[in-house]
Amino acid sequence: MTAHAPGDAVPPSLLVTNARLVTVDDPAPTGWVRLEDGRIAEVGHGATPDRDDVERLDASGASLLPGFVDLHVHGAVGHDTIDGDPAALHAMAGHYVRHGVTAFLPTLVTADPPTTLAALRAIGEAVGAVADGATILGAHLEGPFISTRRKGAHREDLIRAPDPGEAEALLATGVLRLVTIAPELPENAWFMDACRDRGIVLSAGHTDATHADLLAAVDRGARHVTHVFNGMRGMHHREPGTAGAALTLDSLTCEVIADGVHVHPAMLALVWRAKGPDRMLLVTDAGKATGMPEGRYERGGRELFVQEGAVRLADGTISGSVRMVDEGLRTFLAATGARLADAWPVTSRTPARALGLGDRKGEVAPGYDADLVLLDDSLEVSATIVGGRVAHGGTATR
Ligand SMILES: [Zn+2]
Repeated sequence: MTAHAPGDAVPPSLLVTNARLVTVDDPAPTGWVRLEDGRIAEVGHGATPDRDDVERLDASGASLLPGFVDLHVHGAVGHDTIDGDPAALHAMAGHYVRHGVTAFLPTLVTADPPTTLAALRAIGEAVGAVADGATILGAHLEGPFISTRRKGAHREDLIRAPDPGEAEALLATGVLRLVTIAPELPENAWFMDACRDRGIVLSAGHTDATHADLLAAVDRGARHVTHVFNGMRGMHHREPGTAGAALTLDSLTCEVIADGVHVHPAMLALVWRAKGPDRMLLVTDAGKATGMPEGRYERGGRELFVQEGAVRLADGTISGSVRMVDEGLRTFLAATGARLADAWPVTSRTPARALGLGDRKGEVAPGYDADLVLLDDSLEVSATIVGGRVAHGGTATR
């Protein structure tokens, strides 16, 4: 763990040595990164600079990537974002960092109006840097403005149209960064406009949108697609559906749940070929049973059953995941045969850019936030650095 208290005003200068710089184009990729004041100060190849005024972390040849950014995650270690507890959000952040996540968007499932508003306010309290945890970037509102026809595990009785009073209260929290919405529903149009005008990213999801509906949604400002294939109209060769439009429109980035349960490996390969590293990104959709033993859980008054890495309602409907981004990345690379050197943006740069943070997060380059993950030869997380501090896995030494 870090040698410095989280409350230190100035983070130490840290030199990460003996790292494999997979994201930097170079034939001899072993190098080093120097971090200072929470930012990446220098990136170099070959021999480490001879300095004694810095702390050091020996990467032992591990691959160094930008820290993972998860835009769609509901919970972990027994907590759910919808519970509206800032301390629980911090506990989740502490779990995610052990899996290489350095920033995330707490995501809210469909709930009743007071519960949704209270959960957003809790995210507002917890937002920002978390001691020895992943940074909380804001909120992703996944429901309630979605389609009952593609509800997935969302409660149908709570799915609704945006009422001006409720919607204004949600927007007034100032914490919304991403909203999943069914754009084909005319009653959602004004709320889409309100989000777009505030710079909130609009994502088509839990939607029965046709190809034509999604074209219209793009004109209205939609830029993102929530967990492609899941909770949407599928592909047909005469009606490409939401999924077909998502895969072919370059203006849309696509979330993919690569937990090995939500999407068949062949379809992961299809998304990879259609969208490439700059238009697709991995999300977990992970929930409260993440980091917990398999078995029976409860959420929003309903039972969840976790078995063999899958989470299901009593009727068999898939309800989120228990797998984190590191595991998703391994599943994705195995399914596609893609090389880490080509695919690395799907866990960092692409989600950062999708959220409008591409100038600060998601790259190993001078000036970027010092959010990094080290992966060993098996692509297991060996250390995570957030804001220039070792938050998991390594010990910095003088
Ligand atoms: Zn969903």
